[in-house]
Amino acid sequence: MSITVETHCPYCALDCGLKLQVDQGRVTGSTKWKGSPLSRGGLCTKGITAWQQVHHEDRIRTPLVRWDGRLRPATWDEALDAAANGFLKLRDRYGPAVNAVLGGGSLTNEKAYLLGKLARLGLKTPHIDPNGRLCMTSAGAAAMQAFGVDRAMTPLEHLPAADVVVVVGANLPDAFPLIMPLVTRARRRGTKFVVVDPRGSKLVKDDDIHLAVRPGTDTALAAGLLREIAVRGGVDWPFVTDRTTGADDAIAATEGWDLERTSLTAGVGITEIARAASWIAGARNGMILHARGVEQQVNGVQGVLSWINIALARGWAGRKGCGVMPMTGQRNGQGGREHGQRCDQLPGYRSIDDPADRAVVAERWGVTPEELPGRGRTYVELLHDAERGAVKGMLVMSANPAVSGPNGARIRRCLDAVEHMVVVDPFMSETARYASVVLPGSTFAEEDGTITTTEGRVVRIDQAVPPIAIRGDLDVIRGLAHRLGMRDKFDFHTGREVFEELKALSAGGIADYSGMDWDALRDKGGVFWPATRDNPDGTEILHTERFGHPDGLARMVPVVPSGPSTLPDADHPLVLTTGRHRDHYLSGNQTRRIPAQADRAPAPILEVHPRTAAVMRLVEGEPVEVTSHQATITLGWIPNDRLRRDTVFVAWHWEGVNDLTDDALDPISRIAAVKHTPVAIRPAVTTVGPSVPALRGEAVGA
Ligand code: SF4
Repeated sequence: MSITVETHCPYCALDCGLKLQVDQGRVTGSTKWKGSPLSRGGLCTKGITAWQQVHHEDRIRTPLVRWDGRLRPATWDEALDAAANGFLKLRDRYGPAVNAVLGGGSLTNEKAYLLGKLARLGLKTPHIDPNGRLCMTSAGAAAMQAFGVDRAMTPLEHLPAADVVVVVGANLPDAFPLIMPLVTRARRRGTKFVVVDPRGSKLVKDDDIHLAVRPGTDTALAAGLLREIAVRGGVDWPFVTDRTTGADDAIAATEGWDLERTSLTAGVGITEIARAASWIAGARNGMILHARGVEQQVNGVQGVLSWINIALARGWAGRKGCGVMPMTGQRNGQGGREHGQRCDQLPGYRSIDDPADRAVVAERWGVTPEELPGRGRTYVELLHDAERGAVKGMLVMSANPAVSGPNGARIRRCLDAVEHMVVVDPFMSETARYASVVLPGSTFAEEDGTITTTEGRVVRIDQAVPPIAIRGDLDVIRGLAHRLGMRDKFDFHTGREVFEELKALSAGGIADYSGMDWDALRDKGGVFWPATRDNPDGTEILHTERFGHPDGLARMVPVVPSGPSTLPDADHPLVLTTGRHRDHYLSGNQTRRIPAQADRAPAPILEVHPRTAAVMRLVEGEPVEVTSHQATITLGWIPNDRLRRDTVFVAWHWEGVNDLTDDALDPISRIAAVKHTPVAIRPAVTTVGPSVPALRGEAVGA
C-alpha cells in the first residue's frame, strides 16, 4: 500500500513542508507539499534528500551496551536497565547533581518537554541544557531583556513589506535557502538590503550595502550606526517615548562612536556606514534578521541588543514589515528553548527562579515546589564539569558535542571523563563512541509531535512509519522514567498525549500554547504562539500594542562597544570564523551519510582571500595548516575574494574543525565565541587532513 504523509523537513528552522512517500511501510521518497506554510512546497538540496535518512543502512537498529570495553547489541530491557541503573548508582554515591542531561534543538516540543521532566523528576538533577546553548541563547537572552518575549516578531512572509532589511551575521542562501524566494520578492518590490557579514555570500547583490565587518566588532558597528541615525534625526521619538524606556541612555552610550572611529574599529568604509545609516533612518518599515555571526561571540548578547536598539529607535515593531527576527538554526531551536530543557527554565518559557512559575509546574507534576531542582549549569559548562569530576553521568539526546563543542580536544577529554554516558541517537555519532549505553533514536518520520518554526509558528510532525528500532524517543524517555521510579508521571504513548499536557501547562506562560488544537495545527498550516483559549488562532505579529514586560514597554539597553577576549597578534594574525555549508546540517551526523550531500561537500575547506593566500604563499590544490591557540589542523583551501583579507572561514560540520575554536563564553548567554578565533595559516608540511572520520558504513557493536 502506498500513502503520502505531510510533514516538515528535519533540518533548519524554516521547517519547510514536504510529503513523504510511504510504500509497504517504508519511506521511499518525498514530493512537494504545495500547501505547506511559508515554503509552499519548495525544498533545498538537504530537504530533498532528507527522507533518505529514515531507512539508511547506518541506522542504529538495536540498543548497545558496553561490555568488556566494547559496545555490543543488547535487548531494550537490558539497555534501559543499564542506562537507568548507572544513573541511580551515581546518584546514590554522589548526589543527584552528579548526573546531567544534554538535549537538542532538533527534538520535538514533546520530547524537549519530557526530557526536562525526566531530568527534574526522574534524575532529580538541576543539570539539563540543550545544544541550543551553542546556537540561540544570545538571541534569546537579548530578546527577553529587550522585549520580555523571545520570539520572532512577525511572519517571514512579511519580508517584502519592509523598506529596508538588515541581515546581520546570517548567510541566508546557505543556512536558510528557502527564505531566498521571499528575498527575491522583496527586492522586486523595492526593498533595500544591508548585509553585515565579514564574508560576502550569494545574498549580497550589487545594489545592496555590504558591511564586511571585522569579526568581533559588531557592537562598535552598531554603535556607530545608531549614533549616525540619531545625528541624522532618524530616531522615531513618538514611538520611542510611547513604547520604550532607556532610549536616552542607549543613545548616550554611542557617544564618541563617530563615523571615523567606527570605520577604523569595524574595518568598514565611512561611506558605507553613512549610506547604511541613511537607508535605515529613512525607512518607515524595516526588519533586522540576525543569526550566529553576531551571537556566537563573548559579547553575543550585547551584540544582539545593539541591533535591537536600532530597530527600536526606528520604531520597527508591532506592524507588518517591521520586526527583529532571530534566525533559528535547528528545526526546533525555538520550541526547544521554550518547554523546559534549558537549565534556567520550566515549560511555557517559565523561569525556574520564579516561585510562582515553580508552583504552577510543581502542582501540575504532582510534586512540591521544593522538590523541583533549581537552576543548573549550562551546556558547555556541564561538559567542562565532567573534566573536573563534578559530572559523572550524562544522558545525551539529539546532540553531538564531539563535533559541535568548542575547543574540540578539550571536549573529547570531557566526554572521555564521563563514567556513565547514555546516548540516544538515530546514528552512531562521534559522541556515541564514548557511551556506556547507546539507545536507537527516531528520525523525523517515525513519531508524532509538534515543532515551532523560527517565526514562532507551531506545526505538526506526523508519523509516517513506525520506529525502525521498535521503540521511539518518547518510548525511550518513558522507559527510563519508569526505571527511575516515575511510572505514574510518564504514562504517555503518543506525541499528542504529551502535547496536551504541555499545552495545558503552558497556559499563562510566556510561550502560551494553551489554545492550540492538535487537528487545527494541521488544518490551519500552523499557529503562532501565544495562542490562548480566548485566542486559539494565535498571534502572527507580536507587540502591536504592548511588549512583554509588565509595564508593556520595550527596553533600550545601553551597549558599550567591546571586543573579543583574544585579539589577533603577530603569531595568530588572522581571524577564523566558522559557519554552515548549504549541503550539511549541524554536526553532519545525518547529512554526511547521505550520498548526494556528502558528494557535494565531502570535507571542510578553508576559504582564504586570494591576496592573503599570496602573502602566506599558499599553493592552490595544496593543503594549508591552520593554527590557533587551541590546536593545529590541516585542511584543503580555496580562494574567496568576497571574504575580508584578515579573515578566513570554514564550515564546521566535521569533527576536528572545532578543535581550533575558542571556548570562551558570553557571561550572560554562556554561548561559546566560535565566531572569532585568532589563527595563523601556512602551507602544510604534510598532506594529512584533519581528524574527519569516515562515518558512512561504519560498523558498530558485535
Ligand atoms: Fe527548508 Fe531548511 Fe529543510 Fe532546506 S534545510 S528544505 S530551507 S527546512
